[in-house]
Amino acid sequence: MRYDVAIVGAGPAGSTAAKILSEKGINTLLLEKTTFPREKPCGGGLQMRVLHRFKYIEEHNLIDSYSTAFQIHTSTMTHHVDFHHTKPLQAMVLRKTFDEGLVTLAVRSGAVLRCGNTVQDMTNHKGAIGLMLSDGTTIESQFVLGADGIWSTIAKKIGMKQECNHIGICVYADTRLGNSISKNSMAKNTACIFICSQTDLRGTVGCSPKKNTSTSGSLSFDKL
Ligand SMILES: Cc1cc2nc3c(=O)[nH]c(=O)nc-3n(C[C@H](O)[C@H](O)[C@H](O)COP(=O)(O)OP(=O)(O)OC[C@H]3O[C@@H](n4cnc5c(N)ncnc54)[C@H](O)[C@@H]3O)c2cc1C
Repeated sequence: MRYDVAIVGAGPAGSTAAKILSEKGINTLLLEKTTFPREKPCGGGLQMRVLHRFKYIEEHNLIDSYSTAFQIHTSTMTHHVDFHHTKPLQAMVLRKTFDEGLVTLAVRSGAVLRCGNTVQDMTNHKGAIGLMLSDGTTIESQFVLGADGIWSTIAKKIGMKQECNHIGICVYADTRLGNSISKNSMAKNTACIFICSQTDLRGTVGCSPKKNTSTSGSLSFDKL
């Protein structure tokens, strides 16, 4: 079977493209190395303009909650910026459910989903593009869309990815909030970022409270 478009990676970019292409009657394959639902280290904050552009996100209840405030703290904790608004500043999603929801919408629109196989290579194949999967099979497609994230195999194969000598290390967890915290609207709606520059950790520590969950994580940057 030869597809019109094969999309590598079923994160938000890949599944959004798959949904839109399938709605236009384009024979689309969505390839993903993991299986859903899957975790993705992410604060889960969506800019409000995303909701205006892709109205189906709210219509399909993919938003967990809305954040109306944020705080940024300096590394010494002596200064902070506190910003509050009466309207939502960003929409909050849980990536585990958000990404799965977007994939479901893409499949409903007619995209074919194939999970559990990594795309390992890309070659010319019988006048089309051949994508080699980790199970040894090859997929044929007229076009390939690389939506396989920051470490994109597709970008490397076509020479778009430059050598990188920086590394980002991220530790993150979604924690269910106890009732006392859930009921505290201030804690619930305020995203916090702590900037770390005077310790071994150079980066940020962040906390994004949601409806019943808080996503917390730290991100540090270093040279390889
Ligand atoms: C700690 C942290 C916090 C963040 N917080 C926010 C935030 O609050 N708001 C925000 O907007 N952004 C945030 N981001 C950035 C956000 O996560 C990314 O911009 C977003 O996930 C990019 O979406 P994508 O669809 O392009 O790629 P991804 O979400 O990375 O999806 C790529 C998909 O491709 C698959 N894949 C990769 N290689 C292959 C392969 N060879 N074969 C098959 N499948 C493959 C992966 O499994 C993955 O499912 C954060 C990132 C980090 C690290």
